[in-house]
Amino acid sequence: MPTTTATLLRQHGFRATALRQRLLDLLRRSDRALTHAELEQRLDLTVDRVTVFRALNAFEEAGLIHRVLDSTGTSCFAMCDEACNHGHHQDTHAHFHCTHCGAVRCLPSVALPAVEVPPGFALASSRLVLDGTCNACNDTH
Ligand SMILES: [Zn+2]
Ligand SMILES: [Zn+2]
Ligand SMILES: [Zn+2]
Repeated sequence: MPTTTATLLRQHGFRATALRQRLLDLLRRSDRALTHAELEQRLDLTVDRVTVFRALNAFEEAGLIHRVLDSTGTSCFAMCDEACNHGHHQDTHAHFHCTHCGAVRCLPSVALPAVEVPPGFALASSRLVLDGTCNACNDTH
């Protein structure tokens, strides 16, 4: 049985409010990363922007979701692996930005390349966003 969204929230120390459940549901069901605006559009609840922002920030901090920037610098959000937890993300996959439909997707099968930084530099995180056309746009059937 897949974990319900309410259970997932509780496992991460959240009360399962209607907003949190709907937000997380949208992200769990999506095959692409969603922006704050897209999430807000899809919510069938009347909530103010700040509340949505706070919920997303709290999810990110809790290791439930991670943030990717698209080519315009807009934050998109996607579900994390189970390896992530509070204050500690282990999302080591690349992301793909489709220049045709604009979708940003996680590529769990594409690991970030290991890099070495010069002496005196301390690497905190790295990201790789690939540009191109996605499988949905390339599917001509
Ligand atoms: Zn994560
Ligand atoms: Zn596309
Ligand atoms: Zn991702």
